[in-house]
Amino acid sequence: MAGLEGLDLRELLAFEPKGGVIRFAGQRALLMDPVTLGLLRKELIGMLGMTAARGIFTRLGYAHGWRTAEAMRTAVAWPDEAEWRRAGGRLHTLMGQVRVERIERKDTDGPEPFAEAQWSDSYEAEQHLLHLGQAEEPVCWSLTGFASGYLSYCNNKPIYCAELKCVGKGDAFCHIVGRPEAEWSTECTEFLRFYETQCMEGVLGQVTEALRQTERKLRAKRQSLARAGVTEDPSGMVARAESMQRVLNLARRSAKVDTTILVTGESGVGKERIARLIHDESGRSHKAFIAVNCAAVTESLLESELFGHAKGSFTGATNDRPGLFEAAHGGTLFLDEVGEVPPAMQAKLLRALQEREVRRVGENTSRKVDVRVVAATNRELSEEVRLGRFRQDLFYRLRVIELRIPPLRERKEDILPLARLLLAEAGERLGRRVNGLSPDAADQLLRYPWPGNVRELGNAIERAVVLCEGPRVERDDLPEEVRAAPPSLVPTRNPRRLEDMEKEYILAVLAQNGGNRSRTAEQLDIGVATLYRKLKQYGHPEAAH
Ligand SMILES: [Zn+2]
Repeated sequence: MAGLEGLDLRELLAFEPKGGVIRFAGQRALLMDPVTLGLLRKELIGMLGMTAARGIFTRLGYAHGWRTAEAMRTAVAWPDEAEWRRAGGRLHTLMGQVRVERIERKDTDGPEPFAEAQWSDSYEAEQHLLHLGQAEEPVCWSLTGFASGYLSYCNNKPIYCAELKCVGKGDAFCHIVGRPEAEWSTECTEFLRFYETQCMEGVLGQVTEALRQTERKLRAKRQSLARAGVTEDPSGMVARAESMQRVLNLARRSAKVDTTILVTGESGVGKERIARLIHDESGRSHKAFIAVNCAAVTESLLESELFGHAKGSFTGATNDRPGLFEAAHGGTLFLDEVGEVPPAMQAKLLRALQEREVRRVGENTSRKVDVRVVAATNRELSEEVRLGRFRQDLFYRLRVIELRIPPLRERKEDILPLARLLLAEAGERLGRRVNGLSPDAADQLLRYPWPGNVRELGNAIERAVVLCEGPRVERDDLPEEVRAAPPSLVPTRNPRRLEDMEKEYILAVLAQNGGNRSRTAEQLDIGVATLYRKLKQYGHPEAAH
């Protein structure tokens, strides 16, 4: 092999006998999917902006071109150095990045360009169009960088290439021109800054500033949580109550064992959060966590949702589609409200769990899946089994480990820490500075039985954050039903005066009755006159009319 015409990819490539290393012209080379570079480009543009991303790709290409020129100098026996200097485009083509056709012209008006070429099939224009759509400016940044790096090394002086046309901005092909730095007219030097290392420093500066901002935000969040008296649990869960601590402990221990888990508890207790905790602390945490609410999908769609379907297997199945089991391969599938799965589907679900394979609707073959299932229900599944509504074998299969999350009313110690955590989160989300709960509001939160559990508490707190006018949540900012909760008769650490208890209780019952005094008096088994006297004594406006 000799000279430019004889360049052959097969002769430039070498494979180490043991594998794992490929060499191009003696230097280690990588085979890479261009989509990864396309995705990286999209991320860098989103994170740092177009200018900084362009600088990075230009410099990347430049370094690649420079190193290729260096390696090629000795990798091939060149008849003369001019051929080596002209080989950049040919190498670019051999590497599969772009097809380069040199333009040799003698009839230009102005000074003849140092190098000129027409490019087709640029991988970079293709990726830019794919991930970001048509651009206003040329987009073959790393390719022009490569050409510049190659030419600069070979000619021992800076030669810079620019695209005058580019497929990425809608032209039929890319047209590039390279000139020594000094020969670029002043109005064309805009693109030169992308070659400057200062550009990288600018990027680093931006990244550093972005990091500082994130750190400031994190610090502020930590401070607001600390002000609210919330200590952080790594999982973001609050568990002062022993019953809840036991659940978290068991969840953490069973996370490590690759087994099916059934999470039970009333609705709103946070079953999905527990499922996520199990996923995050398992060996599957780097793979997908996919949640599906079995009650939210109609029976006919549930099968194709879970197992996928073949094209044409039913009306509307216009494509082959994998189901959620396949999508969760390697990870965790969370089946919420599994108690709502209809009997026919229960059998198919059991089969998928036992055989560890799924069959798409309309297909005859099965596919292996490696999925851990965490299921949840607010039904008493053993009762459903007894009534014949839920398959016993599926029940046992799901309930290898059962985590029963206690309702909020059974973990009263958690109510205030949870409320403070939710308050800090809602304040952050809504951009409102609310520092805490007034003693009255806190008292009231403890009195209310929270039938909707953590979800209801979250909604109540969010509403309070929106309504509250002062620096903290007052009793009046709480929802009607929470305000109306009568005082509990269980003595707390600070026993209350009987007279206060009576006053609060009477006012709460009155509120529950919408201010109807006769019904209130009847329920309390006291005379209307007595009620009236007491209200007057409390200075209550109901006493005035
Ligand atoms: Zn281009």
